[in-house]
Amino acid sequence: MLRLVYFAILLLSLQAHASNNLPDLGASDLKDYDSQTETLLGKSFSTALHTQYPLVYDATLLSYIRRIGEKITGETGQNRHYSFFIIDDPSINAFAGPNGVIGIHTGLIASARSEDELASVMAHEIAHVTQRHLSRTYENQSVASTAGIASILAAILIGSQNPNAGIAAYMGSVGLTIEKQLKNSRIHESEADYFGIKYLNEAGYNPFAMGDFFNRLSKEGQLYKNSPPEILMTHPVTENRLAKARDRAEQLDSKRPLSYDALKLMQMRLKYVSQTHTTDPFEQIQLKQSHACYQRNLKTLYLPNQDINHLDAQCLEKLIEENPDERLYRQLLIEVKVTQQDVSALEDLERLMDFYPSDFAIPFLYAKSLVAFDQTDKAIELLKARTPSYHYQYMLYNTLTELYAKQKQPQFSYYYDALAQYNIGNIPRAFLLLTQLEPMITDQKSTFYLKVSQLLEETEKTLALLKEAQ
Ligand SMILES: [Zn+2]
Repeated sequence: MLRLVYFAILLLSLQAHASNNLPDLGASDLKDYDSQTETLLGKSFSTALHTQYPLVYDATLLSYIRRIGEKITGETGQNRHYSFFIIDDPSINAFAGPNGVIGIHTGLIASARSEDELASVMAHEIAHVTQRHLSRTYENQSVASTAGIASILAAILIGSQNPNAGIAAYMGSVGLTIEKQLKNSRIHESEADYFGIKYLNEAGYNPFAMGDFFNRLSKEGQLYKNSPPEILMTHPVTENRLAKARDRAEQLDSKRPLSYDALKLMQMRLKYVSQTHTTDPFEQIQLKQSHACYQRNLKTLYLPNQDINHLDAQCLEKLIEENPDERLYRQLLIEVKVTQQDVSALEDLERLMDFYPSDFAIPFLYAKSLVAFDQTDKAIELLKARTPSYHYQYMLYNTLTELYAKQKQPQFSYYYDALAQYNIGNIPRAFLLLTQLEPMITDQKSTFYLKVSQLLEETEKTLALLKEAQ
């Protein structure tokens, strides 16, 4: 019951917030009412993700996933907001939550054999969003039940690995109805395949990849009868579905099935940054020279108690010469140089920021490098200057919280911690932090005091509304 109350609170708080901060009504196919509901649900869904599920906060990996996502969403013909998250969960799964929240499990990234395969599942999920499948499901529910829907959705979509998975049954008929609707909508699945394959092709990926991937998963799933991949539970692979996917791909004029190396590099990276130790499908086979170089350096950087003399900047430099367009080699070389205390890494970062101004992973790496060279003040300035253009504000605010703590500036540390919590909709926590912070500030005429008291006021109002609702 506690959880239900919590979500009721959250939803209300977000509603209150949305009233002074009107939701984006950019998508022309959405009725205003739906768009508002969807925005609110999206926010509480994102809170549930951040507070109840293990997410991967590696900027390089997130940026990679986002780049694939943006290629696909750019072809949907709709101008709407998407956020991409990586769930640290070895099951092969992906989902589309409310308000364009797309979740990818680490197990899916690890099991794709090409970027086209990974992109195909993302395109399918993005098509669920453009076709408004989820909102069509929950808009039929009564208003009274809206509060719990975000957490029910999270529990159902993210799958049975989670301790909250029983929530659908616990929530009674509403939960079960939603679960049933989500899992038994052949029409929605067929539509998502149809549009997903179209987007996939238009984004320059191989339109056959979706059918191939599901077919392979299904065959592999038969080998492990007790635990078929999670995604097959919601996406049963039938002959009919495969035939339709093939037919759809054949109708399209495929532009260029390219071979991508980036996926393999990211699968290796995942192995070192994921807590669930996702297996590396390339480990068993002979590694290409370029992959061996990448892996050797990753291992030395990320495994504990490694001898940094095993770092090999030279092989990375050679790879950069051969693959000047692959930013991932450049980023790893910077990490290597920083560990070797080679200050030329900072010049490389300046250049990289110019090359890829929209890649948020690069300022993150830059900030981390500045800290390593004892330039924490500069790192803070850099992150603050880049704030407005970021997609992952929560991560950014958390980093600033840590850096200010390191600089022994607890007031700013509290402030950014509060912003991080506010950003994911965790209003009670944000309120607590701000009430502790306000009396610490001695100069009540400073702009900082003003900022803090404004945020506190906003948070307090929201919180009062929540208490009323109890
Ligand atoms: Zn689907």
